[in-house]
Amino acid sequence: MTSFDAIVVGAGPNGLAAAVTLARAGLAVQVLERNATPGGGARTAELTLPAFQHDVCSAVHAMALASRFFREFQLERRIELRLPPASFGHPLDGGRAGIAYRDLDRTIAGLGRDGAAYGSLLRPLVEHADEVASFTGSHLLRVPDHPLTAARFGLAALEQGSPLWNARFTDEVAPAMLTGVAAHAIRPMPSLSTAGAALSLTAFAHARGWPIPVGGSQAIIDAMVADLLAHGGELVTDAEVTDLEELPPARAVLLDVTPSALSRIARRRLPAHYLRALGRFAYGDAAAKVDFALSAPVPWRHPALHDAGTVHLGGTRAEIASAEREVHRGRHADSPYVLASQPSIVDESRAPDGRQVLWAYTHVPAGSTIDQTEAVTRQVERFAPGFRDVVLASSSITAIEMQHHNPNYVLGDIAAGAASFGQLVRRPVVSTEPWRTPARGVYLASASTPPGPGVHGLAGWYAALSALRHEFGVRTRPNLSIE
Ligand SMILES: Cc1cc2nc3c(=O)[nH]c(=O)nc-3n(C[C@H](O)[C@H](O)[C@H](O)COP(=O)(O)OP(=O)(O)OC[C@H]3O[C@@H](n4cnc5c(N)ncnc54)[C@H](O)[C@@H]3O)c2cc1C
Repeated sequence: MTSFDAIVVGAGPNGLAAAVTLARAGLAVQVLERNATPGGGARTAELTLPAFQHDVCSAVHAMALASRFFREFQLERRIELRLPPASFGHPLDGGRAGIAYRDLDRTIAGLGRDGAAYGSLLRPLVEHADEVASFTGSHLLRVPDHPLTAARFGLAALEQGSPLWNARFTDEVAPAMLTGVAAHAIRPMPSLSTAGAALSLTAFAHARGWPIPVGGSQAIIDAMVADLLAHGGELVTDAEVTDLEELPPARAVLLDVTPSALSRIARRRLPAHYLRALGRFAYGDAAAKVDFALSAPVPWRHPALHDAGTVHLGGTRAEIASAEREVHRGRHADSPYVLASQPSIVDESRAPDGRQVLWAYTHVPAGSTIDQTEAVTRQVERFAPGFRDVVLASSSITAIEMQHHNPNYVLGDIAAGAASFGQLVRRPVVSTEPWRTPARGVYLASASTPPGPGVHGLAGWYAALSALRHEFGVRTRPNLSIE
């Protein structure tokens, strides 16, 4: 049996970030992926009609430009990331909408009487967006590099994560905009974790924009795989790992899996107290996906939404908070929150001439088996009358099917573990190095570890740096830049 210095189980963005880092340190690395293609939550495929390219999972990469891993990897030089004219938009009934432009002042100007309140909340974070990224992209148990920005962020999160969250606003548009972003955390709100998501992602929307990769999310994965192979790494697909004992000899094994999968795969090597802690790790509410091939752009009632890469649907702050509460109670909301993206407004490679794709998911109770095509169509139609007439075809993935495609999305939890404040600290255990398990050479390198969900590669990078330090005595960070 061939032996390797390190084996990575799972070729999602975190698994590949770990593999690239280890290969760049000169180690012999093998990646084993259960699916036929690498990428996990970052893949692109023809899901509806020929020549319509849909992102199967992630579509918008708000964290790609903020991630220290991707900066060191020089992602921006390897693939083309395009910025839509507006990062996101949020329509309300009656033809109103909030539009988050990169330009904060232009955004404020569109928010009427709440413009100043929105500006005073966001401006200090937008002006220090790199410091916000350093804080939110690390581990909450770490002493922050920029304590003043961390304190400012904390105070803003205390406000937007508490019943006082409406205190500064008098109108509906600005709070709805923040709520549309807060809902990315798929949690009841207001809460500290939904407020953290709202503030950090909105700050990035104004500071850098929310980029869309040309060719789809797969382009990010292709760049990582190319770097891995160029540095001697090996990728094996259709290779599901069910037990560590099946693996060839290696000094380190890094698993891009959930805590439940880790406890099955490494059960013979992990102590009982750690297995019990993994057993307490909770999974969150779920998402169900719908992709559309369109004959024309979405006929938004508010014209500026044509320029928004992402559109949050669901109405006012109160409506979205109520829909998220329903889902958390195990019920499908009558008027659910829908997260939609229009990648073909900036990337013409996604659809044939003049045609468009629309990517969307909605929140549903964990394990839902219900096709959400009609629910999502209704919510788009509410703000874009005539939408049904431009739909050529659609494709749906229910929450439970999400888990069949990728076991990291337990019962459709696309965050690989509830993103509650407690579980951002205890992810999956309380430790200053949560990527390292008590089993010698075994590391957890997935979104179930800090800094949590998203395509940023940081969890894999931190796990790899930890393994390099403890298993190979390497204390310097490998150079990841283009040579
Ligand atoms: C519908 C959807 C929409 C999303 N939208 C966005 C977005 O727009 N922007 C964003 O930043 N994030 C988004 N996300 C979240 C993002 O995709 C994930 O947080 C991210 O992919 C996590 O990366 P990961 O490497 O930890 O895990 P994953 O990407 O889930 O990859 C895990 C990999 O491990 C493999 N694997 C698991 N178990 C085994 C095993 N036993 N043996 C071998 N292989 C195994 C899986 O097949 C998979 O390829 C979305 C996710 C989903 C599902």
